[in-house]
Amino acid sequence: MFFKTIDFSKFSSIKVGVPIEVLMLERGDIVPKDRMIIGHANNLLVSNTPVPLMMLSKDFSFMEIKENFLTIGCATPTGKILSFAKKNDLAGFEFVSKLPGSLGGMIAMNAGVKSYEVFNILEAVKIDGEWMPKEEIEHGYRFAKLKGVATEVRFGIHKGFDKELLDELVNLRSNQPKIASAGSAFKNPKGDYAGRLIEAVDLKGVSRGGMQWSKIHANFLVNHGGGVFEDAKYLIDLAKEKVFNRFGILLKEEVQIL
Ligand SMILES: Cc1cc2nc3c(=O)[nH]c(=O)nc-3n(C[C@H](O)[C@H](O)[C@H](O)COP(=O)(O)OP(=O)(O)OC[C@H]3O[C@@H](n4cnc5c(N)ncnc54)[C@H](O)[C@@H]3O)c2cc1C
Repeated sequence: MFFKTIDFSKFSSIKVGVPIEVLMLERGDIVPKDRMIIGHANNLLVSNTPVPLMMLSKDFSFMEIKENFLTIGCATPTGKILSFAKKNDLAGFEFVSKLPGSLGGMIAMNAGVKSYEVFNILEAVKIDGEWMPKEEIEHGYRFAKLKGVATEVRFGIHKGFDKELLDELVNLRSNQPKIASAGSAFKNPKGDYAGRLIEAVDLKGVSRGGMQWSKIHANFLVNHGGGVFEDAKYLIDLAKEKVFNRFGILLKEEVQIL
């Protein structure tokens, strides 16, 4: 293991944060219990004083087909997984297009688009050195209780990459803001949409410092440049308060605040 300074104002997708020393895990390392594992910070809002952090090094960025299984290391970026699936004509991975991040982050968030979720296609996850079948991992809409660090994931092999589905999913996402964000800020409450609720309390387009509830998609907290943690947190708390006061609904963050 070794330390690396990561500037979260550059590294995170929302471009908020400061340089922080992050412990990089290499193959064979014993995973420390007092640090939080992060992926590629596409779903994180990192304060200037987060809990101690760790990340998987390049040792865990790989893909291999062996004995009728596809095994992928958890540091592998989703873009690479999509190219691999296309090249090898593999079905099931079309939805990872435009789902930025690493496989580890995808697994922990049970990331997905519409009815497509990563837990629908995987078979087992290696957590803290032990393979766990997916049936033994509690998971649901945008969460999975991993109870440790995921390093590898095993998928069954099904032939037939679906180019039409890929095009459909890519188009579906064209209404999302292109500027820095961490994707959806809140999970959709049952039977409703967080974006609709934020709009209903007149926060769509409202900003503080460089941060703004996007004019394009109200559930995206975007950074127009120079946005800082305090501004982002202020807008998140404001949305929660206003939505609760008006609708009695407590919005739950999808973005993870560290
Ligand atoms: C523009 C944009 C659009 C997005 N659209 C979507 C969408 O449509 N659907 C969707 O689901 N998400 C979406 N996201 C969110 C993001 O793409 C996913 O949550 C992604 O899976 C995060 O991966 P990451 O590697 O960046 O993880 P991080 O953001 O770094 O971490 C996320 C969580 O994963 C945990 N984690 C990371 N690695 C590991 C590991 N190896 N072992 C255990 N836990 C780990 C972290 O502790 C943290 O809790 C979007 C993000 C952006 C910026």
